[in-house]
Amino acid sequence: MISQSQAISWNDLADSVLNGGTVDDATAHAILDCPNEELLGLLQAAFRVRHQYFGNQVQLYYLKNAKSGLCPEDCGYCSQSKVSDAPIEKYAWLNEEKLLAGARQAKENQAKTYCIVASGRGPTNREVEHVAKAAKRIKEELGMHLCCCLGLLKPEQAQILADAGVDRINHNLNTSRELYDKICTTHTYQDRIDTLKVAQAAGMELCSGIIVGMGETHDDLIRVTNELRELNVKSIPVNFLTSIEGTPLENVSELDPQQCLKALCLFRFTNPSTELRIAGGREIHLRTLQPFGLYPANSMFVSDYLTTKGQTPSEDYQIIKDLGFEVVTQGFESEKPTELV
Ligand code: SF4
Repeated sequence: MISQSQAISWNDLADSVLNGGTVDDATAHAILDCPNEELLGLLQAAFRVRHQYFGNQVQLYYLKNAKSGLCPEDCGYCSQSKVSDAPIEKYAWLNEEKLLAGARQAKENQAKTYCIVASGRGPTNREVEHVAKAAKRIKEELGMHLCCCLGLLKPEQAQILADAGVDRINHNLNTSRELYDKICTTHTYQDRIDTLKVAQAAGMELCSGIIVGMGETHDDLIRVTNELRELNVKSIPVNFLTSIEGTPLENVSELDPQQCLKALCLFRFTNPSTELRIAGGREIHLRTLQPFGLYPANSMFVSDYLTTKGQTPSEDYQIIKDLGFEVVTQGFESEKPTELV
């Protein structure tokens, strides 16, 4: 593996990707197997690609857990599933006022996108109407970019959300098709792909990503990143497994910060113009190397995750400031290429 990596100039790889080249599987493996002493070079090359599409900008996302716990599904990583004993707060749907208050908080925290997330296999029509009403008010009053993550969607439900002004649907692939039934048995990988296609057909953008660290191989990671490119997703959240006590994956945690950075570089090179987010688990797994994550990635969640705490927004702003980057709160910068560095 080292000899394969040594044959690759990371700068040449950046040139190739910036000229429209794709990353073959051997190169993808070389990125993931990059020796640690070459990691700075790999990050610099990934940053050239990131800078072409996003400059020094960082996009922040703010999550609101609109319905917590009580989920009939059995996703092994999730504290809200029926097989989890994690002591989380459980509640039914937040009312419209609380969803609106979350959007105001998102704006205050300089988030460009407000994400309304609900536990469950998928929403009822009544729940979709509830979110749609809140979405209309949020768009009218705050004009925020709005993403919803509500589980499996039917075409008519996706259309209601799109008509209400929801810009984007999040539905993560989480892991590869090959590994999926080891992580979850109550729905399939194909169910997830179908929901992404339903959302796309209704005219919404797609946000879909992965949880790294659930026992996947490098081949699994490569399959997921290629699948996300083929699905033409606009945004990829890369989570690193937070092993939550009381979940089936409570003892699985085999990541180190360098591996996490290499995974982020893989996603950047294979999806060069796609918004790439360092998502849940960054504080735990990237640890002191968190700032380096913003060389391949161009976005982060600010504040807490669904059922776990994140670091404070002021710590995130400090990282961004210290890197000489800036928070962007408006616009869709990936459509405006900037100068090469
Ligand atoms: S469907 Fe969503 S809320 Fe339910 S267990 Fe899976 S990830 Fe958790």
